[in-house]
Amino acid sequence: MAAEREDPLPHLNRSTKMIEDKDRPGFFKDYHRAVRKALTNDQFNEFSKLKTNEDRIRFCFNLPAVHDIDIKTFFKGKSEKEALEKKESGNRCFGRKNNLEALKYYSQAVVKAPVPSGKYWKLIKESADPKKMTMYAICLANRSAALYHLREYHYCVRDIDEALEHHYPKPASTDVPECYVEEKPVIPELAGGRNERFVSASKKIDIHYDNNMGRYAVAAEDIEPGDVLVTEKPFAAILNRQEYGNHCQKCFKTTKAPIPCKKCSSVLFCSVECRQSSYFHTVECPILDLLVGSGMSINCFLTLRLVTQYPVSYFLDMKEKLTEGEDLKETTNNKDVYDPSDFMRLYQLVCHSQSRTAEDLFHRCIMIVFLIKALKKTKYFDSKGTGSSDKISDVEIFTGTLLLRFLQIVQFNAHEVSEYILMGPKTFDGAKNESMGAAIYPTLALFNHSCHSAQCRYFSGNQVITKAVRTISKGEIVPENYGQAFPTKVKTQRKADLADRYWFDCNCEACQNDWPMYKDMDSSTQRFKCHKCHGPLPVNTDQVLNPFIKCEKCGEQTNILSTLKNLQNTEQTFRGACKEMEAYNLEKAEALLIENTKQLDACLYPPYRDYHLTQEAYMRVCLCQGNLRIKLAKAEE
Ligand SMILES: [Zn+2]
Ligand SMILES: [Zn+2]
Ligand SMILES: [Zn+2]
Ligand SMILES: [Zn+2]
Repeated sequence: MAAEREDPLPHLNRSTKMIEDKDRPGFFKDYHRAVRKALTNDQFNEFSKLKTNEDRIRFCFNLPAVHDIDIKTFFKGKSEKEALEKKESGNRCFGRKNNLEALKYYSQAVVKAPVPSGKYWKLIKESADPKKMTMYAICLANRSAALYHLREYHYCVRDIDEALEHHYPKPASTDVPECYVEEKPVIPELAGGRNERFVSASKKIDIHYDNNMGRYAVAAEDIEPGDVLVTEKPFAAILNRQEYGNHCQKCFKTTKAPIPCKKCSSVLFCSVECRQSSYFHTVECPILDLLVGSGMSINCFLTLRLVTQYPVSYFLDMKEKLTEGEDLKETTNNKDVYDPSDFMRLYQLVCHSQSRTAEDLFHRCIMIVFLIKALKKTKYFDSKGTGSSDKISDVEIFTGTLLLRFLQIVQFNAHEVSEYILMGPKTFDGAKNESMGAAIYPTLALFNHSCHSAQCRYFSGNQVITKAVRTISKGEIVPENYGQAFPTKVKTQRKADLADRYWFDCNCEACQNDWPMYKDMDSSTQRFKCHKCHGPLPVNTDQVLNPFIKCEKCGEQTNILSTLKNLQNTEQTFRGACKEMEAYNLEKAEALLIENTKQLDACLYPPYRDYHLTQEAYMRVCLCQGNLRIKLAKAEE
């Protein structure tokens, strides 16, 4: 993602919103301002001359003003009393056979109930007294009964297992049916099979490199609309704060019957497995509310997660390899497999350290100093840290250096993770795609941007899937879209937003040729494809006197009457697709929309209305295949 070239617009001050969450006030803003104000001009000059991230972090940590903050851990703990209250509310609903409402209360009780652990838990286990049931186990067992009546057998069985694990007496016989449905996300097959080098991408994709464009994706063979191009798990992912209550922290799946963190009551998981594999949360748990209160952006959370998902020893073992330079050529010269879970692949994504202003770097450093101070309050550094909050050990400096690099990488390489919200069952009316978090996908990050996207993204949990939305011939660039699509946003604004966030001057075909926005597209002038060389034949379809149009490129005559006839057919196909969408027949709609795109691609060059309507409809159908939440009417049970 993003070119390696020099910053084209070096004078914009654009760092702030990448670090602070503009919609969420917090104390970090004031903290940064106070530290910056306390800095003399000489000190700032000294900072601006520093050459390495390590020197910058060391310099900032030694400023007395950064320690004028009292960092405390606080988090929402468990409460046996609240759990009991919720459980009793659940029992009342269960007694009235209102199982959905009972499920809600029991879930709240499960989340609030203290989870036995450590010494206390060992004692209970050893005493093996069936009367000493834990509140946690009781709440789970009650919830499993509600789930059973709701026919959610998979969750029901899982809750029974977890309750038994936490010392609920084994029932004499269990009346849970043996077969139950397990929900598994559907990850489609990559078009043409898996790429041997870039294992998250289709065989039809190749990654090229040049000095001007950096790394970018190219079609290794002809790509057709509907082809699955990338399926990738995130290297790291972070859930939006607003979604904590209904999605798994680890995999982002919705939590019908959540499994809580053992210590706090803010964080939920979809399963015991996800809880067990979330080392990051055992680190973040005591400081989570502090971090939220700081008002730091989701990018900063993602940066921190890149560190907290591994113990510090993981990074120390690699220390020799982690030099500060940016060497991107490595990927394309090196014929090794590009494994997206390989830390070095992440480490080598672009960060543009060289073209940052001192002010930008200083702002980032203060964020990192804050994060290090917060991490010092956790068990993360353990014996490798210093006990005191205003001293810093070499390991802490090293971690700060990593964080500073990650914060820059995240700016250019993070993707939004989303879910599609339907306003009612089986209807596209009012449906919208909503952000649920952010993630880093090392392979997807290699695709360059175009305002005329070639693929749409959707998600299963936090795993990304992309499909081609148009025909791409072998050898052509396969672009992605970084949230700036030409049909809906005016060129100056797109270019400004891209320069602001990603630091490049967009030069895609839509920007270069001033393609009109959807509302300004004029259907009377269209660019037909020459039947011989595919060269564009601009035609005003209102005034066609002679159907034979001569190609300026190759001199051939193309009879556009047959093309016009084909276009009439596409209108029919599109209408058919819309009918299938109205009936929510997704498979049929998808097939028709793909067919329509192919027909249009064979006749005309974009931009024109029908083409973008087709793509728009196709993207909606794709979104329904990923994370999907359907709003139910309140009265429904
Ligand atoms: Zn999960
Ligand atoms: Zn927790
Ligand atoms: Zn553009
Ligand atoms: Zn031609």
